[in-house]
Amino acid sequence: MQKIQNYIDGKLVDPRSGNFLDNINPAEGKVYSLIPDSDAGDVADANAAAQKAFPEWSAMAVEKRSANLSKIADLIDRDLEALAVAESVDQGKPVSLARVVDIPRASANMRFFATGAIHFASEAHITDQEAVNYTTRTPVGVVGCISPWNLPLYLFTWKIAPALAAGCTVIAKPSELTPMTAYLFSKLCIEAGLPPGVLNILHGLGGKVGQAIIEHPGITAISFTGGTVTGKKIASTAAPMFKKLSLELGGKNPNIIFADCDFEKALSTSIQSSFANQGEICLCGSRIFVERSLYQKFVDAFVERSKNLTIGDPADEKTKVGALVSQAHMEKVLSYIDLAQKEGGRILTGGKQVRVSGRCANGFFVEPTVIVGLSHECRTNQEEIFGPVVTIMPFDTEDEVLAYANSTTYGLSATIWTENLKRAHRVSARVKSGIIWVNCWLFRDLRTPFGGMKQSGVGREGGWEALKFFTETRNVCIKL
Ligand code: NDP
Repeated sequence: MQKIQNYIDGKLVDPRSGNFLDNINPAEGKVYSLIPDSDAGDVADANAAAQKAFPEWSAMAVEKRSANLSKIADLIDRDLEALAVAESVDQGKPVSLARVVDIPRASANMRFFATGAIHFASEAHITDQEAVNYTTRTPVGVVGCISPWNLPLYLFTWKIAPALAAGCTVIAKPSELTPMTAYLFSKLCIEAGLPPGVLNILHGLGGKVGQAIIEHPGITAISFTGGTVTGKKIASTAAPMFKKLSLELGGKNPNIIFADCDFEKALSTSIQSSFANQGEICLCGSRIFVERSLYQKFVDAFVERSKNLTIGDPADEKTKVGALVSQAHMEKVLSYIDLAQKEGGRILTGGKQVRVSGRCANGFFVEPTVIVGLSHECRTNQEEIFGPVVTIMPFDTEDEVLAYANSTTYGLSATIWTENLKRAHRVSARVKSGIIWVNCWLFRDLRTPFGGMKQSGVGREGGWEALKFFTETRNVCIKL
């Protein structure tokens, strides 16, 4: 059985304890590899390596740092197919999705920040001809990057690329559920000649090795993407230590469809924003609000399209909905479908686990599920389900739908469908979300600020925001 290893000080090593955990293929429901059960001892080793590497990496000419990271991007492109297959096996997503979204985006992340760092300028302010202020931004030091399981290599690189580009050295932990592509990535770093200790990747349990990263006094900043409950725990450890913190957390995003929308575009994109990656994307629009005059037409067409989505073997090119990431997660999703029924919801399609034939007979598959008849206030519409489950609700006025949209504790993203430009601006300004898409979804420009309001997070990633996060700002004022 394949054994994944930690990447510390430029080498692949077993965890100090010698203990390994099972890694499960969610489409087959069986163990297919082993991952290190790392602990505080491994964090100490990684920290020693990262501290040793920091002076040279942070002082390296930015073009040289950039070349190192671009080389890794080239190797990701070279290995695209193998990485896509590995991501699909490890996570359960269709390989066709990993091939066009996850892996291309991972190399784009590396290249974007590799080149971005070259253009990351400092500022100067002349004060009334009497003084010159100049502002410098220097790398904060050794940082911790912790990422979730839904878009494994995509979100892993989204964090480490700006950290490395800014000149920090990094200790990173992917989710224990999806460690494989981060492991393959560590091999690419070795091949690319990344200096030892610049990036260290530790595998294992969040509450054990993840928590040890957060607690380590040598690690000065934490960039975390994951659930809101974990985010709170991380903040409660890191804040009293005055660590810099960036938290990208959960969402319960509204998808608002006005009657004057382009119906076909709204419909087909809403199918994607509901069920892409089995609904396991923090930006999925899990609450669909449709203006009453369009409601029935939209519901009928949406249910029809949902029924036609091919569920099954992620390796099959025709599959649109793969396996959920784990049995525990599948049970959580199914329990929310139960809850929705208890709360008075009516299931128009889906609602059940799918038994796929052949090698995937024991996999964790759930039908795309559409629920109507619920109030915006019920738990099903307030809590993040993170699976292929959406609710559809009618509304009559803008004020009403804004009250519904803003009624959760989350504020990550929102989607608005209307051909009325004034309305698009008006509603965008009043939805309490950090990311708003009008007449599109998940249309990304990596320069834009990315992150949520309320309990969806603290801080923003993307573009200069990310490079600023990983640097310490110093202003020097010189009197003329
Ligand atoms: P979790 O919060 O469970 O885990 C995220 C990461 O944190 C994992 O690597 C996990 O390790 C680790 N972790 C868990 N506990 C601790 C701890 N005490 N200290 C340090 N690290 C810890 O989230 P999921 O992996 O379940 O991801 C799904 C969540 O992520 C959803 O809520 C989703 O909305 C959110 N998300 C947010 C995004 C955004 O940009 N805002 C993007 C994508 C997802 P392990 O897995 O080994 O337990």
